[in-house]
This record gives sequence, structure tokens and C-alpha cells, in this order.
Amino acid sequence: MIVIVGLILAFVLIVLFSDRSTRYCRWRADRRGDGPSGRYFRCAACGATAFTVTGKPPDWCAARPTSK
Ligand SMILES: [Zn+2]
Repeated sequence: MIVIVGLILAFVLIVLFSDRSTRYCRWRADRRGDGPSGRYFRCAACGATAFTVTGKPPDWCAARPTSK
């Protein structure tokens, strides 16, 4: 019985973890879109676009609700 409960718990954790990993944005730099606004990034997960002046991917995610 303990083994069955452990297997179910592990399965739930895997589902939650995989769901979380696919929910966030995956930014990809696209040099063709670079312009005066900065480096152009496009999300491979949801298609969102953003410009950053630091050259690093944005630290926000269009697919993740902002809960600040
Ligand atoms: Zn996204």
C-alpha cells in the first residue's frame, strides 16, 4: 500500500514539474530583428516578442501570470 501511494505521489510531482517547465517562456535571440530599441527576442513557447538593451533574454514571461 505504501508503494502504491509513493508511486502516485511521484507521478503527481512529475506532472506538476513538467507542466511548470513548459509554461514558461523560452526566449530566442533573433539578430534580424535587432534595432534601435535593443536586441530582439522571440519566445519559442508562446510567440511573444520583446526588446532588451542588455542583450540578455527578458526576465519576464508572457505565458506566466505576473503575481507581484
Ligand atoms: Zn512565452
